[in-house]
Amino acid sequence: MSAGRNRLPTFAALIPGAALRRAAAVSPGDIRDAVRRSGLRGRGGAGFLTGVKWNLAAAAGGQEKYVICNADEGEPGTFKDRLLLSDFTELVFEGMTLAGRAIGGRCGIVYLRGEYRYLVPHLESILAKRRTKGLLGREILGVNGFDFDVEIRLGSGAYVCGEETALIESLEGHRGEPRNRPPYPVTMGFRGCPTVVNNVETLVLACGVAAHGPEWLRSVGTEDSPGPKLLSVSGDCTRPGVYEFPLGTPLRDVLGAAGGSDAKAVQVGGAAGVCVPRSQFGRRLSYEDLSTGGAVIVLGPGRDMLAVARNFVEFFNDESCGQCTPCRYGNAALMAGIEKLEQGRCSISELNDLLALGETMQLASKCGLGQTSPNAFRSIASHFRGEILGHGQGNGGGHE
Ligand code: SF4
Repeated sequence: MSAGRNRLPTFAALIPGAALRRAAAVSPGDIRDAVRRSGLRGRGGAGFLTGVKWNLAAAAGGQEKYVICNADEGEPGTFKDRLLLSDFTELVFEGMTLAGRAIGGRCGIVYLRGEYRYLVPHLESILAKRRTKGLLGREILGVNGFDFDVEIRLGSGAYVCGEETALIESLEGHRGEPRNRPPYPVTMGFRGCPTVVNNVETLVLACGVAAHGPEWLRSVGTEDSPGPKLLSVSGDCTRPGVYEFPLGTPLRDVLGAAGGSDAKAVQVGGAAGVCVPRSQFGRRLSYEDLSTGGAVIVLGPGRDMLAVARNFVEFFNDESCGQCTPCRYGNAALMAGIEKLEQGRCSISELNDLLALGETMQLASKCGLGQTSPNAFRSIASHFRGEILGHGQGNGGGHE
């Protein structure tokens, strides 16, 4: 797999230190205002407005406030944050420091995916370098009261810990299970204090906004989805890797760049995302159409779509924390349905029941894991209905 900086022109043009020098010269409110006007949305997948999140945390009372960088990157098919953490490390820490300045927080924590443990010595060496340069620690860049530092904590591998309240539970030393919301982390997060949790890529883009103004982000992308987006392209393509594209780019263009133009379908958004058939490759990667935290999994002409569905349903069946019934029972029921489909014993009405169950899971599950877990199955069952109903029967049709 290749992932060169030359594929990431916007990110490669950012100069470490520039955002903080600008931030030190303006008020925290000015920083938040620039981020709000840029329309920056969280790059982890949910797309929440970063400026709104920072404003809420700034407005919350409390002595201590925290900035958490969500570097858990557990979505299958996503590996773009690993590249930012290894090659754009200073910008990740700079984005955290900027967020700290913006909300009035002094403590930053990187929640690092356990499998990225090998990056810790590198991350620690960059932290030490930034402390030496006066870009971390007390009175950053000589500004009275601008204190901020960062520590690294390792995750233990649960997918659900990518959800921000489960991540906070894990950081506090508890079992990583989602909390009831409200209260939201911006008012009551880590150790009961106001906390912003931002994705790695979001923090790097915030540096660009702080250094160059809101129009820098708005100069590419769409009105509702401004800016560039990093995509981790994998699967049945000849040039997999991390790519930068403006939000709003048609899926077809991404496949062309990655050598996957003959794909049968593409899973956009990882296991939690949707399966897009070839007839819809003109759809655009943006928050208003095909939303993704970064994963683009190419499925070649020979792929068995029921096997693809099994892979994702099995994953969620394993990763469900079991706290709520729609997710715990629903994923087990979908798994049983997949087994019937494999044996050619699933009727059309049973398949329709599974689709309805998926809809209930989306509506009634407590957290994003359960709400998104039926997406892949539902989209595959709707776009490749004949193929999956014909499984085990040697034909492409279903039976009532
Ligand atoms: Fe746990 Fe699933 Fe419920 Fe989320 S939706 S709280 S992962 S059981």
